[in-house]
Amino acid sequence: MVNIPDHFVGILQQKFQKAVEDETLLFNGDASTTQMLYTELNGSRYKFHVTELQSLQHRPELGSVLSNPFSKPEPELTILSTFGDKDEFRIVLNKFPVVPYHFMLVTKEFKSQNTPLSPNELMATFTILKKLASDDKNRKWFSFYNCGPQSGASQPHKHVQFMSFPPGFLTLVDKLVQSSEYFVPDLDHEPLQDKNLPFAHFVAKLPTNINDISEEGLAMIFVSLLQRTLTVLRDNDCDHISYNFCATTEFMMLIPRSGGKYKELGVNSCGYLGLVLCKNPKLVNLVTETGFEHILGALSFPNTTGLAIDEYHY
Ligand code: AMP
Ligand code: AMP
Repeated sequence: MVNIPDHFVGILQQKFQKAVEDETLLFNGDASTTQMLYTELNGSRYKFHVTELQSLQHRPELGSVLSNPFSKPEPELTILSTFGDKDEFRIVLNKFPVVPYHFMLVTKEFKSQNTPLSPNELMATFTILKKLASDDKNRKWFSFYNCGPQSGASQPHKHVQFMSFPPGFLTLVDKLVQSSEYFVPDLDHEPLQDKNLPFAHFVAKLPTNINDISEEGLAMIFVSLLQRTLTVLRDNDCDHISYNFCATTEFMMLIPRSGGKYKELGVNSCGYLGLVLCKNPKLVNLVTETGFEHILGALSFPNTTGLAIDEYHY
């Protein structure tokens, strides 16, 4: 059990408004425009939501362990100064958000962003997702974790992020999840994978009443998806462990990653849900000319639908 304050959503919203007024937080959303791109893959239609920033970001390109913003987060950005059943986390607003209320679950002690999510980190993540789903009816939320050097992460201190979807948005795997059975993490069941998408991805549909899933249950689901991810990385002779983790109260998904950047375009977990962020108009042209599905394919590994699983997989 992880306790979360009853008024969590109220605290989040107040802190965000105050930090915008104080200019502690640099909200980039007002200087952005959005457009939809459609693509057809094997006769099925998919939609990408492209956000273009009009002004250059002030965000640091790459953080380091020494100049680490999450070791002592600014009080004006701190939503909860302590969280988790062992008081092991903080909850902090993103300083450079493109979407309002974007925040992060951050470990108090330094832990590497290259480490997998532990059972207590998964439990904390789902406790937050469930609270948002029950108390913020205006938005649909998701969480993501960019793990490893080629995952699109910029900060080395462990952080799981929480952002809301654009209104009415469906992720690349929503239809697949809606038309499938719940995932059972045992040797007889395989995670879901949409054969039309040009990249390996492993999806577990979660039971409707996820309040009933224990910390161990979440960990077993995560580990099942991580096993497939590690097998893909090993089979491709990868010398790093990089993947994206995306979750809502309906599903958990892992995507093994081969690269973090396509030319100048950085792609993180959001991209593999269908959310594209372009920091200048040139990048929008790159996406429209190349096709975002090709970019997703180039930064990951081939889809593994139908491949036999041998006894040597993880
Ligand atoms: P980045 O510089 O890639 O970390 O992204 C800048 C800000 O936008 C961060 O707050 C990101 O987490 C967030 N972000 C990343 N991808 C997207 C996206 N596709 N749409 C909107 N915001 C995003
Ligand atoms: P990632 O790029 O996925 O590693 O996410 C790191 C996020 O931290 C980015 O979206 C940045 O906008 C955000 N960020 C960078 N510096 C700070 C800071 N000083 N306080 C809060 N958030 C920050």
